[in-house]
Amino acid sequence: MAQEKQLAWDLYHSYESYREQSLQNRRFKYSDIVLLIEQLKNKNIFQVDKVGKSIEGRDLFLVSLGSGKTKVFLWSQMHGDEPTATAALFDIFNFFSDQNVLPEFKRFLLSNLSIYIIPMVNPDGAELFQRRNIIEIDLNRDVARLQSPEAITLKNVFDSLKADFGFNLHDQGRDYSVGISSNPASISFLAPSPDFEKSLTAPREKAMRLIGHTAIILNEFIPGHIAKYTDDYEPRAFGDNFTKWGTGVVLLESGGWRDDREKQFLRKINYITILSALNSIASESYKETDINTYELIPNNEKFMMDFILRNLKLQSDGKEYTIDIGVNFEEENFDEARKFYLKASIEDLGDLSVYSGYEEIDLSGYTIEPGKTNPEVFHTLEDLEKVNPSQLYSNGYTNVILSDGDFSGTHTYLPFNIILKQNHFLPNELKPDNPANFIIRKDGQVKLLVVNGFLIDLEKPESWEGNSIVYGN
Ligand SMILES: [Zn+2]
Repeated sequence: MAQEKQLAWDLYHSYESYREQSLQNRRFKYSDIVLLIEQLKNKNIFQVDKVGKSIEGRDLFLVSLGSGKTKVFLWSQMHGDEPTATAALFDIFNFFSDQNVLPEFKRFLLSNLSIYIIPMVNPDGAELFQRRNIIEIDLNRDVARLQSPEAITLKNVFDSLKADFGFNLHDQGRDYSVGISSNPASISFLAPSPDFEKSLTAPREKAMRLIGHTAIILNEFIPGHIAKYTDDYEPRAFGDNFTKWGTGVVLLESGGWRDDREKQFLRKINYITILSALNSIASESYKETDINTYELIPNNEKFMMDFILRNLKLQSDGKEYTIDIGVNFEEENFDEARKFYLKASIEDLGDLSVYSGYEEIDLSGYTIEPGKTNPEVFHTLEDLEKVNPSQLYSNGYTNVILSDGDFSGTHTYLPFNIILKQNHFLPNELKPDNPANFIIRKDGQVKLLVVNGFLIDLEKPESWEGNSIVYGN
């Protein structure tokens, strides 16, 4: 184990040399990875085969390397908006392409393993940065009925390989926590059940040992951030059925990490996780690890929120109440899903003491009330750009009205929201699912505002880092 940990640290320290620079954030597309796959064809160690097509006609590729007797099959991004592992797979291709660093380790892997990889099973979904494929089928609920060509391809490749191990690579929501701790579940594992009885079959036990073993190594890098997904059997999912059909399947989910919405650190952790697990399979060292190690990994729970404001006073009917208020952001795609803006809503309010925020602020001694709309009507975006936010803020205005028939945006980078006059209803009560626009006072004076979930300090309006929303478009 000491050697395996040392190897993982070597991978950690040399990672930047192999990070695929053309994949900078999560919103890369099929066209980006096709270029990289074309380059793999020119390198001896890789074999590249077209194994299917998506509904919109994008090729699905199988990249193979190694000639060992143990077969390992990895597939990523069957959910189009879950790309973290795909990027890590291209980092891993770069790692294998370099003959000079850790040559013995590479030789060891390639002589003991035959590795098969489908990166981006759902390219049509990735194009739109959406979970499902282009006809709204969730590929991971299509293994039984096999309606989508992407699912058929995955099943055909699985059948042709009958691999010893499978890696089902996904992303999970940022709201997952490690148990009830204040840590995001940054990496979650599962050895899926092969049936409703959650039987402990030989392939499942093998996967449990491998996960437990890999988690010990991973604990060097992200202690307290590793969780385990629920093992309820899902008869329509690939991992569960592949386990039933004899492969030791590891579900690997990349979750949240503080200050890393683009998950570039977790991409690096994926790289280390996958290469370390391949090493353990090749050396069979995972057999030394008891399944209890797996069983003791804390469960995935949902106790994370993006932003929690704590201990605020809420006045209602002459009475005063103490509340916390939790805000979550949704990512809204634009520019052909190459970019996104954030849209905040109230997740919950009241006693949120069991929840943790990616960001939190204690506002004891402050009061909260809904954000207000400035009654003055502006006629052009240029007029709005001239507005002094401080004047709006001191009156508690988080929104302004715009009457401009030519304007059709969804969001802006102005530090206040825009309500289009022709359709200007905006729910502003403090209750779940409503937009997160608040006024926060101390001793009656406005001190802070929350505009679309972003905190603004009245003394420092220039510190605005968020995006605001155009309502009513
Ligand atoms: Zn998924």
